[in-house]
Amino acid sequence: MLRDTHLKINIGYLEDNIKSIQNHCKDTKVGAVLKSNAYGHGAKYMAKSLYNIGINTFLVATLLEALELKNENDNYHVIIMGHTPDKYLKEVIDKNITQTIFTYDQAKLLNDLAYEPVKVHIKIETGFNRLGMQINEDTVKEIKQISNLENIMIEGAFTHLSLESKDSDLRQFNKFMELMNQLETVGIQIPVKHVCDSIGMVLYPDFHLDMVRVGALLYGLESEEKGVLDIKPILSFHTKPSHIKTIKKGETVSYGNRWVAGDDSFIATLPFGYSDGYPRNMYGKGQVEIKGKSYPIIGVICMDQCMVHVDESVTLEDEVHIINQKISVADLASLAGTNKNEIVSRFTSRVPRVYIKNNQVIHTENELIK
Ligand SMILES: *Cc1c(COP(=O)(O)O)cnc(C)c1O
Repeated sequence: MLRDTHLKINIGYLEDNIKSIQNHCKDTKVGAVLKSNAYGHGAKYMAKSLYNIGINTFLVATLLEALELKNENDNYHVIIMGHTPDKYLKEVIDKNITQTIFTYDQAKLLNDLAYEPVKVHIKIETGFNRLGMQINEDTVKEIKQISNLENIMIEGAFTHLSLESKDSDLRQFNKFMELMNQLETVGIQIPVKHVCDSIGMVLYPDFHLDMVRVGALLYGLESEEKGVLDIKPILSFHTKPSHIKTIKKGETVSYGNRWVAGDDSFIATLPFGYSDGYPRNMYGKGQVEIKGKSYPIIGVICMDQCMVHVDESVTLEDEVHIINQKISVADLASLAGTNKNEIVSRFTSRVPRVYIKNNQVIHTENELIK
């Protein structure tokens, strides 16, 4: 590991979460969203762990993320949900990656570059207005043209819900289904239709269709819908003090001398900072847990370190918990004024990932020296 600051990822819990999700989804295929380094959990080992339990459709945002997974195991079915610029489409073909497209021109280009059928998913615009083919009187014709291309296999079609309200989500879903039905009447069968992310999957069993695209819930990042599914957070974050000292009343800590000791105080220096992914704006709000007791982070959080106001019971040998059962990703997100996904996806390559199952370390990943 070579560093006390590390993320611990519980693969046993991941497997439990998958079971809960599969129970909820019945016959619908579960696609695992592994973009952004699997929401900070480490895409390579997450993919491997999921593949071992029978999940092999992995969704990512970018070509580079797809290549990372394909280079690990060519058997993975990897779908890029985002846009790949034309000049890189050759890579998509060479590595047998499934690409999202939303225009005939992209399909034509893929077709012309390909030497065997290339799988695509067509993204349909239903109201989110990010990426997608807009629905108008020409849409069916355009998709028909795509389906006629010799080297293009339309494997899927999808849209993404904005999750503003049940009404607006239903409007989007109906718009999508209406197009799917029109396609069927002109003889175009789309094998994998999908609409739901984690929240959609929980809220709308009727929208599951052929596949769900599950990110947050896989990692146990519970949402407002918690309670419907039995899931557990799989990630925790830990370190050990690098230094403990006492300072006198009136002495100060960190940049700008902003924290002033109201009394003689024990200060522990911890070897993590904002460049590991911990939000710098946790200044004045963050807590860590040591031997079951909470201690405040004090002073401005530095790039690589921060300071905690402790007491005489804390030693250099004690484990410091930055995220655990008590201090959740959700707590951190709400204190930092962001969402859970941002908290976890910010963990950087500098932080070793330690994978455990049944309290045993089964793998460690250290991106810097791989
Ligand atoms: C990120 C993403 C998902 C997964 O979202 P979660 O809320 O994390 O489950 C699903 N679909 C698309 C298109 C995405 O970009």
